[in-house]
Amino acid sequence: MKVTAITEIISKEHVEKVRSYIEKYNKIVITTHLSPDGDALGSSLALYHYLSRKGKDVKLIVPNSFPYFLKWMKGAENALIYEYNPEAGRRIIKHAELIFCLDFNVLKRVGDMAPFVKDSGAKTILIDHHPYPDNSFDTVISYPEMSSTSELIFRLLYQLGECESIDKDIAECIYCGMMTDTGGFTYNSNDPEIFEIISFLLRKNIDKDAIYSNVYHNYTEQRFRLLGFTLLKRMKVYNDMHSALIYLSKEDLQKYKSTKGDTEGFVNYPLSIRGVVFSTFIYEDNNHVKLSFRSRGDFACNEFAAEFFQGGGHLNAAGGEFYGTIKDAIALFEAALKKQESKLKNASS
Ligand code: 5GP
Ligand code: MN
Repeated sequence: MKVTAITEIISKEHVEKVRSYIEKYNKIVITTHLSPDGDALGSSLALYHYLSRKGKDVKLIVPNSFPYFLKWMKGAENALIYEYNPEAGRRIIKHAELIFCLDFNVLKRVGDMAPFVKDSGAKTILIDHHPYPDNSFDTVISYPEMSSTSELIFRLLYQLGECESIDKDIAECIYCGMMTDTGGFTYNSNDPEIFEIISFLLRKNIDKDAIYSNVYHNYTEQRFRLLGFTLLKRMKVYNDMHSALIYLSKEDLQKYKSTKGDTEGFVNYPLSIRGVVFSTFIYEDNNHVKLSFRSRGDFACNEFAAEFFQGGGHLNAAGGEFYGTIKDAIALFEAALKKQESKLKNASS
């Protein structure tokens, strides 16, 4: 199949390194970040299918489980969930010769697996689009200007001369990752080459409308009820700061019988309010408080996350964490907003 030429943005050195490692090594592990999202899983499964079909002994290990609306992806059922089976995970990591780390920039994002990945003796290759990767990896293939890690995996296969190997399953996974990391191509997706890539994937017979439905028309009733409650009862708007906060305690989540993935995307809703350019979602997780940040325009969520909540991410989408009560997390957030007052007062999208 003909592919419209796209720019070879991955350096030749990186492409050749990946090629030689794939030729040389047989026992390969792919891993990705905690609470895998569509891009984490899409990029990992695309690479997983490619390597499996080359006859490699490849395992996908994810740190913890992923939401129900991602389970339709081919191969998702083969992912080993480390949280549920740490011994098996450690054994596989220990014997791996090559580990691909996808869609994260700092090793601590794989959670409890991090020390085992670090000490495994395998070659580690990071493939990612978050800024500021750390130096825990042997090879760092980091292109923050990419829409998604899934786009990078496409470009890697393209530059390896492996377009013919991209079958429908691989194409679906790549599309899902590109779609979810751009909010259905509504942000971070103005590069025309994204649409060249989509044309290519469509010619592999993917059904992009069905993929959209699988992800976004697949929520539970309780998610909708929880969303209604959140927007009505748990949202604060700081008009003068062009900011908004939504928050959910453990009790709130329990009351609405929330399951993993139910709160996915909640943080985006306040950005639809006129004038709001910075939205934060704070919720209580098992033993800590988790924060999600989104912005429109040039307010840097990743800097805010790093400065106040030990986190990071992209300019317009980042996350962080807080160890303490949700009340204290909200107080710290409001103090942090105040510190950013001059930036936020003048912010526009
Ligand atoms: P989300 O809000 O969807 O959980 O995450 C948004 C972005 O922020 C993702 O790109 C994710 O990788 C990053 N992110 C989320 N939580 C953390 C965190 O605790 N630390 C760091 N460094 N990045 C995070
Ligand atoms: Mn991503």
